Amino acid sequence: MSTTPDKRDPASVGDATWAVHGGNSVDASTGAVRTPLVLANSYRLPDDPSQMNWSDTAGLVYTRNGGANQAALETKLAALDRAEAAATFGSGVAALHGVFFTLLKAGDHVIVSDVVYEAVWRLFAQLFPERYGIHATFVNVRDLDAVRAAVRPETKLLHVETIANPTTKVADIRALAAIAHDTGALLSVDSTFTPPPLYRPLEDGADIVVHSLTKYINGHGDAMGGAVLGSREVVDRIRHDAVVDVGGVLSPFNAWMIMRGSVTLPLRLRQHLATAQRIGEFLDADPRVAFVAYPGLTSHPDHILARGQFGGRGFGGILAFAIGGDAAIQNRFVKNLNIITSAVSLGHDESLVVHAAPGTRGGDDRYPPEFQRYGHLRLSVGLEDADDLLADITQALEKTRA
Ligand SMILES: *Cc1c(COP(=O)(O)O)cnc(C)c1O
Repeated sequence: MSTTPDKRDPASVGDATWAVHGGNSVDASTGAVRTPLVLANSYRLPDDPSQMNWSDTAGLVYTRNGGANQAALETKLAALDRAEAAATFGSGVAALHGVFFTLLKAGDHVIVSDVVYEAVWRLFAQLFPERYGIHATFVNVRDLDAVRAAVRPETKLLHVETIANPTTKVADIRALAAIAHDTGALLSVDSTFTPPPLYRPLEDGADIVVHSLTKYINGHGDAMGGAVLGSREVVDRIRHDAVVDVGGVLSPFNAWMIMRGSVTLPLRLRQHLATAQRIGEFLDADPRVAFVAYPGLTSHPDHILARGQFGGRGFGGILAFAIGGDAAIQNRFVKNLNIITSAVSLGHDESLVVHAAPGTRGGDDRYPPEFQRYGHLRLSVGLEDADDLLADITQALEKTRA
């Protein structure tokens, strides 16, 4: 660690400085101080290209293999997550698929958290076993004995979400990494709900981290993307197999957008986390609210784990809750909101809420009983004034119960 801060050396500066400067460079031809948007599909070849590998990802050749804006973003993201390397994809789901597609083959077995993103549920519950002979066991990853009991000789991967979408169950990454490594498997962690600097799963022993860049890392609700982070060896394999030869690449434009959005990631996160905590406590204290799931509440079953694992920095920006009553009551509450928007996605600047009834999500029969009884409202707490959000929720609750 050098004593002189240098904006090109992530080890010498803090997260906010790196989020501003990481991966950015002065354009040699114009002197522009921000990496320009490079929309070209291909890059000039060397004088003798005759022996070149067309799938090369080391230099810039063809934009499906990598481009100037994707490379800049990958440099920024890798250091933020303390990874050796990062590969970007056109969406978070493409990144997740890239991990599974590259690391698994017919006959392999995977242990998957029983609460995972809908697309991951379907990949492992239906598509992979039915078409490719890759089998999965869905396990409650808070029950470490159950995780150990699910291990088979052919288990190659353990896949979890740090904070699960939508139940907010928290995975103990250090303990799960130990179980995975004991059996010779890898641990992959979808850390979309806990971007850096809130949490860095690689520091707790995870082998692979996946982010939907669509969410907090871009943060403005206007560009989709995904990223895989880990050792150079594993990221290079995923880049060769899943980026170059499957092709779900991030566009240069979206890379440029996400590069810009991520400048304020550390700053935005502080506000998301602080406001989510206030809203969680407010909902928890209101008798009209049937339940609140937020790891920042002492009533949350994983509160103590989350406090230690996230170093007291916060507990995420997503809450799940329900108003006492049926689905019509939940819909009425959402309709009565004036600031919080009813839309899917999360981690945007604006607060978003989604109402999901029981029986509508893959594997939701494994959600906690209160989710099954009331359904749930998933609230992604945005960057509006906390007082405005609390006032909006208060007036909507009053109108709903009137
Ligand atoms: C949104 C999300 C994804 C998928 O990301 P896309 O960019 O929409 O493909 C994966 N995992 C989690 C936890 C998410 O919230």
